[in-house]
Amino acid sequence: MIKYLHGIPRERSLKLSSFQMDILIMLGLLMFGVFILLYGFVKVSFKQMKFEMEYIEVETKKGNENYELAIKKVKNLPHKTLKKRSVAEIDMIVIHHTEKKSRVWDIADYHVNKNGWSTVGYHYMIQSSGKILQLNEIETISPHCKDYNTRSIGVCFNGNFEENMPSDAMLESGEKLVKYLKTKYGIKTIVGHGELGNTDCPGENLKLFVEQFKN
Ligand SMILES: [Zn+2]
Repeated sequence: MIKYLHGIPRERSLKLSSFQMDILIMLGLLMFGVFILLYGFVKVSFKQMKFEMEYIEVETKKGNENYELAIKKVKNLPHKTLKKRSVAEIDMIVIHHTEKKSRVWDIADYHVNKNGWSTVGYHYMIQSSGKILQLNEIETISPHCKDYNTRSIGVCFNGNFEENMPSDAMLESGEKLVKYLKTKYGIKTIVGHGELGNTDCPGENLKLFVEQFKN
């Protein structure tokens, strides 16, 4: 290649026509655009990993089996001024169902803008797929169980479990989540919403799920 270039007169090898210049500029702009797009994509991906995904290792009762539990934090749901508590006040987990399978954003919108609550009424939502969503920080007082909100964590199964059966994936995720929360916050009391108030929640078909944590 170098040998070949040596054979070309100096002016011809270095001078570019205006057409060639245009092509070069356009290529430069194109590469710049691709770079910006890639940068944006990578940046957004990292942001999502950092702010929305939290991986938690869960220890079972047997103590020798570790699960990796993925919890997706949902940001920017409708809310008003949040009321806070100290983690030391927590001594209870209350299990719920939504009564009607719904989009999380719609539930939050209803609780905040129709009911006038400060935030969506649960800390965790378990989806049919088994995916676990965190809707409120643990320190946030979430209005999910009258008279017990300050001391409890609300875990909700998305669907109607008076009428339908929860999926295996939901039950598996729910069990891991409750065990993790029990261990992390030293919680001994796990109840269904109906044990504390006049409601069918979380439904007949989640009774066994709640019972397994009582001993
Ligand atoms: Zn409930």
